[in-house]
Amino acid sequence: MNVVICGPGGAGKGTLVARLLERDPSLWLSRSWTTRARRPGEAEDAYVFATPDEFAANVAAGGFLEWVEFLDYRQGTPFPDPPEGVDMVFEIDVHGARSIREHDPEALVVFVTTPTAEVQEQRLRNRGDDPEVIEKRLAKAAEEHDVALALGAHVVINDDLLQALHEIEALIADARRRSPGS
Ligand code: 5GP
Repeated sequence: MNVVICGPGGAGKGTLVARLLERDPSLWLSRSWTTRARRPGEAEDAYVFATPDEFAANVAAGGFLEWVEFLDYRQGTPFPDPPEGVDMVFEIDVHGARSIREHDPEALVVFVTTPTAEVQEQRLRNRGDDPEVIEKRLAKAAEEHDVALALGAHVVINDDLLQALHEIEALIADARRRSPGS
């Protein structure tokens, strides 16, 4: 089974995905490539940090399942190579979610969002994004929400982290029941 966790920057996807993986060893995270610089405090293995040339070479070699131009950088999902019996987790934007759905119509798509735009803004500030970048991300959030709804994504509001985590775990359990063995 494929699980896609999408949603605007600052929604808390990264934290939720980290908790999901800690609690369920049968989930396997897809590690994306990015051409942006590492943020202060961001884990070294949060992405494969690539130069624009390395990224372009991998695009040309057909190495990505999907990739997007996000703001002024690129992010891409390499073709996954998971061990037998795990469920893949993709933490990507809504356009990536749409691509995964095209490959796998049964993919579970979860859209994680903040209770309000103000909360999103505050979280982006707290993690040290530049004011300009924050503005762009806020503008993108509304568009992302529309794409997610069109995809029929399950919307999870991340107000209380544990509650959001439990909601996503329930969605995964439910999807597993519907597609046993996949
Ligand atoms: P950030 O730069 O904040 O880490 O990521 C920006 C957005 O790109 C987030 O919504 C993140 O989930 C998404 N993203 C990360 N990796 C990928 C990817 O490989 N493909 C796509 N489509 N989106 C990605």
